[in-house]
Amino acid sequence: MTDVNPQSASRFLDYAPAPESTSILHLKPSYGLFINGEFVDGHGDSFQTISPATEKTIAEISNADSSDVDAAVAAARSAYTRTWSKLSGADRGKYLFRIARLVQERARELAVAESLDNGKPIKESRDVDVPLVAAWFFYYAGWADKLDYAGLGPNPRALGVAAQVIPWNFPLLMLAWKVAPALAAGNTVVIKPAETTPLSALIFAEILQQADLPAGVVNIITGAGDTGEALVNHPDVNKVAFTGSTAVGRAIAKSVAGTGKKVTLELGGKAANIVFDDAPIDQAVEGIVNGIFFNQGHVCCAGSRLLVQENIHDEVVDRLKSRLMTLRLGDPLDKNTDIGAINSREQLERIRELSDIGEKEGADRWTAPCAIPENGFWFAPTIFDNVSTSSTIAREEVFGPVLSVLTFRTPAEAIAKANNTPYGLSAGIWSDKGSKILAVADGLRAGVIWANTFNRFDPASPFGGFKESGYGREGGRHGLAAYLESAGWGSPAAGSTTVSTTRKQASA
Ligand code: NAD
Repeated sequence: MTDVNPQSASRFLDYAPAPESTSILHLKPSYGLFINGEFVDGHGDSFQTISPATEKTIAEISNADSSDVDAAVAAARSAYTRTWSKLSGADRGKYLFRIARLVQERARELAVAESLDNGKPIKESRDVDVPLVAAWFFYYAGWADKLDYAGLGPNPRALGVAAQVIPWNFPLLMLAWKVAPALAAGNTVVIKPAETTPLSALIFAEILQQADLPAGVVNIITGAGDTGEALVNHPDVNKVAFTGSTAVGRAIAKSVAGTGKKVTLELGGKAANIVFDDAPIDQAVEGIVNGIFFNQGHVCCAGSRLLVQENIHDEVVDRLKSRLMTLRLGDPLDKNTDIGAINSREQLERIRELSDIGEKEGADRWTAPCAIPENGFWFAPTIFDNVSTSSTIAREEVFGPVLSVLTFRTPAEAIAKANNTPYGLSAGIWSDKGSKILAVADGLRAGVIWANTFNRFDPASPFGGFKESGYGREGGRHGLAAYLESAGWGSPAAGSTTVSTTRKQASA
């Protein structure tokens, strides 16, 4: 075949449907709260979790009210005092290793559940989310008996009960980022998944039962913002770990100020993905696609602002459009799907609203031509070109498959534009020259910087932000510091930047 136009080529090379079977799931029609090692009914009004791809109900979910939050925190406190704090680090580590192995054993089931409930493509939940969940537990299992050697001060001690609240974009992975270091450091946990994605956390609760984890060490309560609020404000928690929006993070910071609770906040981002004219363009285009269209752009560290050197702008944008025309949008459970469903109607409306603003403010909108399924929540990959630094879509987190394209002429201009944001979570640099990458990275105010790659995660590598992206680090020994008494904000972890190159990618 000589025709290389991706649109016409796809007519000849159409993929047959390849859906992953849901027969591996053993879902219950309804799920209770997981408190003190058992599933119990919540006292709030239950709610339904739905598939964002079909809008069909998956299961009925319990809603924790403040009395349930009290019960969960009491269970965590009792488990901390009676069992978990009395175990040796080596014994805690054995439980974590067991959990990691069970996650691997039930990996396919977890991946299917995650794609069903969240809408992300199965190839991502299967090849990225779930393997990283296992990697996180394996990694922190290894630390549990080595806390004295973590360089976090003498005799590091657990804080007690950790209250953890997580978002919907990487439901099980965010749970692992929070639960694994907390347990390794000797804390017990009450965690609340997001209201639109509770399913994988509830299957994880079954894994905890399988692992024979002592009752009350991990409690999983489902509910919406008011449940989260009651949890983080509970007087008997010692540590608050929150991942979510900057607005909620700010409210939590205010409410826990002066209480003595230790806090880490992992919030939003508006990352710059900087492409220099000496970059390998084909790789850079793949990196741009991975940077913003991975997980439908529901990624806090997404490369949502493409800063491209002016002299290669047309070439990069043309190649990017050609590449986007080959992406397949549709059933998240289909193994060939690249772009899944938007997680909720509410999020879809926000993406639409911000995109309309982008157009009104004068940016050039281009949308990949793809068929949108009749039911469910969908948004086709979209590029805004000629975006100015003051434009709303260059400043606010869209949290969807929407890329803003800006240009620069010199490295200094690239750095100034990249830093011109209230956020500071991540950034990407594409260049052939190592010295240029290091010099530019030095000038960027971002917690994580990828070089000639993007959106790579490794449990040994700390992750977190500057400015409105939050404070504290998750991952690595820095992630342990957030759950230990002896390590404070003055630890080497607090405001550091991680620079990753292709040679140091996640291989979990
Ligand atoms: P969100 O802030 O609306 O909700 C996050 C969680 O907080 C949910 O479980 C929610 O029920 C709970 N919550 C809501 N109001 C609360 C309150 N007043 N007190 C306590 N808990 C409350 O965010 P979201 O829409 O679920 O997630 C998207 C956001 O998360 C984006 O801004 C994204 O950038 C951010 N995020 C950040 C990271 C990171 O590591 N920095 C990772 C993933 C997502």
